[in-house]
Amino acid sequence: MAAACAPRRRVAVSDVAFQRCISPDCGETYALDDARVACGRCGELLDVAYRWNQAPTPKSLKDFEAKWARRSDPLCFSGVWRFREMLPFAPPGKIVTVGEGQTLLQQSDVAAKYIGVNGGRLYLQYEGMNPSGSFKDNGMSAAFTHAHMIGAERAACASTGNTSASLAMYCSVTGLMRAVIFVGSGKIAYGKLSQALEFGALTVQILGDFDDAMARVKEVAGQLGIYLVNSVNPFRLEGQKTIMFRVLEALAWQPPDWIVVPGGNLGNSSAFGKAFVELKELGLIDRIPRLAVINAVGANTLYELYEKRGLRWNGGRPDATIIDGYHRELDQAKRKADTIASAIEINRPVNLKKCLRALDACDGVVREVDDQQILDAKAKVGAGGFGCEPASAASVAGAKRLREEGVIGADERVVCILTGHQLKDPTATVAYHSADQEMFNNILGKRGVRRASFANRAVVVPNELDEIIKAIRLYG
Ligand SMILES: *Cc1c(COP(=O)(O)O)cnc(C)c1O
Ligand SMILES: [Zn+2]
Repeated sequence: MAAACAPRRRVAVSDVAFQRCISPDCGETYALDDARVACGRCGELLDVAYRWNQAPTPKSLKDFEAKWARRSDPLCFSGVWRFREMLPFAPPGKIVTVGEGQTLLQQSDVAAKYIGVNGGRLYLQYEGMNPSGSFKDNGMSAAFTHAHMIGAERAACASTGNTSASLAMYCSVTGLMRAVIFVGSGKIAYGKLSQALEFGALTVQILGDFDDAMARVKEVAGQLGIYLVNSVNPFRLEGQKTIMFRVLEALAWQPPDWIVVPGGNLGNSSAFGKAFVELKELGLIDRIPRLAVINAVGANTLYELYEKRGLRWNGGRPDATIIDGYHRELDQAKRKADTIASAIEINRPVNLKKCLRALDACDGVVREVDDQQILDAKAKVGAGGFGCEPASAASVAGAKRLREEGVIGADERVVCILTGHQLKDPTATVAYHSADQEMFNNILGKRGVRRASFANRAVVVPNELDEIIKAIRLYG
């Protein structure tokens, strides 16, 4: 590794980082090289924690900009690892990067107008520009690095699609591990499945949905000693913190007023909260943005619990009776998650408690948007250029709702996270724009989508020059 990019002060990495149970009543700690996804004592989620005074932390966020001049070093080029002083758990020689995190924060006046905020105040963070086409690469780079550090040979995940695409990519590009992925039946968008298959992952299709696949992969990984890379893995979230660092960097280190993000397994929202809390603790920012997490109506567990039933982090002691009661209701009603936004089609978010902590730290709100609102917002994002997949557009649809409610002010600076690339799920996009009513009904109508308010339909013309020219004059 280039000396210029090495830490300024040499310290043994294990002195700096360790794992810690998130429950304040437990707080059990674990060594860095312990591969576990829950506390062995109380079963709660784990954090990666740092002894910051043992590590060379930056004096100012501007320090990170200097890395760009050294981008011929892969660790300075990576949009994750150029911030590695903020996730100092890996020795540089073990870090795995495939060039993730080259993303863009784009000001969008099309989206600003749609949402109802003033021009110049709305930004879209295009995480679809990652190598496998979703934000998952940020977290995968970190979890994969940890897996590599501890000598794992196989890595597994359950996935609505993007996690598996990302894992499969890291495995095939680096040749360091074998990918084992679990997917539910008929739920995964073809763009994502095609990646996992082509990258050569062992693909196990479960007759069930994501929540079923998630439960199984935990059992299987435990029994076979396979490294689990779902976002219950605390190292995933360390990588996902860097999305916020890049947003801040693009805004000249001035925190925006709002971060709006779709909520599925709630890894991103949890990671964003952790990122801001740590930056504040280190004195690198003086203000934490507010966080809005957006569920789909058909997978709205967080919305139900947080907004309807008043569940709160409560200093690390969220009311378990509220959570258990809701899960029992889901079971009794045999309710399965259902939304066109397949990446957030999840009823039992594994990072629920960490997300409650993030909402607490970021004065957060949660909203739900239906598939109609998601697809209309997605069409608007696409009309502004680049585009996104359905789940991503929940952020824009959610921001619009919050603006209509007056929760977001017209002159506030809002960043919507676009989590995945438009080409991940072309089926939903084509159905929306299609003039074929049957296709529309089969894919969208059955989910309660009634209109394609912003459809750009293909013009059908006979194969005759005059007719074609006429059509272009008429419509163009
Ligand atoms: C995984 C994923 C989500 C959900 O993110 P969480 O961190 O699980 O809440 C949203 N959008 C896309 C495109 C995803 O791949
Ligand atoms: Zn514990």
